[in-house]
Amino acid sequence: MASTTQIEARSVGKKFGKFHALRDISLEIAEGEFLSLLGPSGSGKTTFLTLLGGYEDVTSGALLLEGQDMTGWSANQRGFGMVFQGYALFPHLTVAENIAFPLKVQKRGKAQIADRVAQMIDMVGLSGHENKRPRALSGGQQQRVALARALAYEPTVLLLDEPFSALDKNLRGQMQEELRRLHRDLGTTFVFVTHDQEEALALSSRVAIFNHGEMQQLGTPEEVYERPANRFTAEFLGDINILSLDPAAGGIAGTRLDLPPNADAFRHVAIRPEHMRLAEEGDGNQLPARVCDSVYLGSKSRLLLETRAGEELMLYLDNGTGVPTPAPGTDLSIAWDTGDSFAL
Ligand code: ATP
Repeated sequence: MASTTQIEARSVGKKFGKFHALRDISLEIAEGEFLSLLGPSGSGKTTFLTLLGGYEDVTSGALLLEGQDMTGWSANQRGFGMVFQGYALFPHLTVAENIAFPLKVQKRGKAQIADRVAQMIDMVGLSGHENKRPRALSGGQQQRVALARALAYEPTVLLLDEPFSALDKNLRGQMQEELRRLHRDLGTTFVFVTHDQEEALALSSRVAIFNHGEMQQLGTPEEVYERPANRFTAEFLGDINILSLDPAAGGIAGTRLDLPPNADAFRHVAIRPEHMRLAEEGDGNQLPARVCDSVYLGSKSRLLLETRAGEELMLYLDNGTGVPTPAPGTDLSIAWDTGDSFAL
C-alpha cells in the first residue's frame, strides 16, 4: 500500500481498575483511510476510539500521530473531530449555531464562520433548517448536524462512534451513502465504530475486528470476509459452514475430499454458503448430505442439510434458474471449489 501512515498504535492497552478493556493493540491507520472498528458489544471498540481521541489515557503502549508520540496529548491538542452515538448537540442552539460552535471556540472571524457554516449546511443537505433547534429535527437530520459540526473546522481525522445506531434501516442506508460520499469528497481519515458487519464491509477501506479487548484481524473487507484469521472472525462476519476434518478419510464425514493446502494443521474446514452448490457430474469435491429443511426467501431459497457425520450446513439456491428446490429427506451431494474453502 503506497500510503502514508497517519496514526499508529503500538501495543496499546487499557485497564479500568483490574479489568482489561484492551490488550496489546498494534495497528497503523493510513492518511485518508476509512477504518472501521467492528466487534460485539463490550469488545473494546469505543474504548479504543476514546484513546485515539485523547478522551481517555492509555494504560500501556503508545499512540503516534505522523510519527510523533501523542500519547500524552489532550483531546484538544490532537484536534480530531468526534461524532458520538447520541448526537450530543446543544439543545438550546440552532442548527447553524451548533455548527458554528467549534469555529467560535477557535476564534475564527465572523465572516469566515458564516461562510463555513453555510458551506457545511449545504454539504449535509440541511438548507432551510439553519434556524431550527435540534428537537425540531428528525434523527437523521440531527446526525447530519453532528457530522457537519465535527467536520466544520476541517479536522484531519474524524472519529465516529456508532453514529447511525439510533436510525431506522432505510435512513441508516441513506446516511451510510452520505458518509461514503463525504469521505470520498473530503479525503479526511475516518475511524468508525460499529457492531454491524454489513455496515463495516460496505463502508470501509479496512476493518479491524475486536473481541474481548483484543484485535482479531485487520484487513480489507474482502480479506476479513473471505479469509478470516480465526473462528470468531469467520462466524462474526456472516453465515459460514464449519465442518470437522476426518483425518482417517482425508476429508470430511468419511468422504475423501480436496482440502485447502494447510488443512493438516487444523481441525475444521470452513466454506461460506454462497460458495456451496448442489453437486453436478464432474464436480471434484462432492460431499453427501441429506436435506433437512428449505426456506423460501424470494430471489433465493436457503437449504439446510446434514452430513453423514450429523454436522449441519447451509447453502443458497437461486430461485431464478427453474431448478426445483429439493424436498426435506432428499439425499444428494454438495460441492465447492477447494480454493473457496479454508482451514480453521
Ligand atoms: P458497545 O458496542 O456496547 O459500545 P464496545 O465494543 O464499544 O461496546 P467498550 O465501550 O469499549 O465496548 O467497552 C469495553 C469494556 O470496557 C466493557 O466491558 C465496558 O464495560 C468496559 N468499560 C468501558 N468504559 C469503562 C469505564 N469508564 N469504566 C469501567 N469499565 C469500562
